[in-house]
Amino acid sequence: MKRFLLPILALLAAAPAPAAPPLQMAITMDDLPVHGPLPPGETRLDVARRILKALRAARVPEVYGFLNAHWLESEPETEAVLREWRRAGYPLGNHGWSHQGLGALSVADYEAEIARDEPLLKRLANGSDWRWYRYPFLDEGADAAKRAEVRRYLASNGYRIAQVTMSYGDYEYNEAYARCLTAPDADGLKRLEAGYMESVRSAVDYARAASRAAYGRDIPYVLLTHISPMNARMFPKVLAYYKAQGFRFVTLAQAERDPAYRADVDPTLPPSPPVATGPLPKRYDPRPLLESVCLKP
Ligand SMILES: [Zn+2]
Repeated sequence: MKRFLLPILALLAAAPAPAAPPLQMAITMDDLPVHGPLPPGETRLDVARRILKALRAARVPEVYGFLNAHWLESEPETEAVLREWRRAGYPLGNHGWSHQGLGALSVADYEAEIARDEPLLKRLANGSDWRWYRYPFLDEGADAAKRAEVRRYLASNGYRIAQVTMSYGDYEYNEAYARCLTAPDADGLKRLEAGYMESVRSAVDYARAASRAAYGRDIPYVLLTHISPMNARMFPKVLAYYKAQGFRFVTLAQAERDPAYRADVDPTLPPSPPVATGPLPKRYDPRPLLESVCLKP
């Protein structure tokens, strides 16, 4: 009997480990149709087209674009961005009419902001589900009563909350990127791109560590990004990086089917309490780079 033991153990050791379930990510993009300063010679439509091209090329099945409809009053031509988004087959969701934080408004004014975004969403929906809400500044309200009241409003109007479980501070790069292109400073731009990719990598490590600490596993992640000129440049690289890390792109509804998002898809439930996490990896801090790159000596 004993002699069989060794070969069996050897076999077990040689057997491949059970495959880990693939990492999942739903990509979302905020502040349509306008985010960040426009570099010389570019238009908002150029930015959208480059982003959409990268997303389609990487076969991302769906990307919610979260709308601030007030832009169409001052820059009506930016409606072309929204139409292009819909033409690509991607849906739009609600991000408040003029991007106000809940902390800055009364509940009534805040709810009016949500309602005022809706006519344009309805007009462009063409059967897609626009009743997903992304809180501007991710500000869900510090005041518990106010927070609960807005959640009730969202629930009674059929909204689900588009939560965020991964973000890399892409918006922090906007000013420096415009500076590097305006200068122009090719060397600075290279350093800026390297820093940006460091932010992308560091956010993956951070979100995964936080998820494992809280849930003991990788939840499907919901990534927050913005419709910015720098993202238009960087998205092919960013998406390739996620793929190389083993991420599979899924829809927002698929990601939020995970129990971790229970209170987001059902705002009648009390908001999930903050989950305890252990020590997390330090995130890359781009500030020293952003404060110095592409400035004239
Ligand atoms: Zn926003």
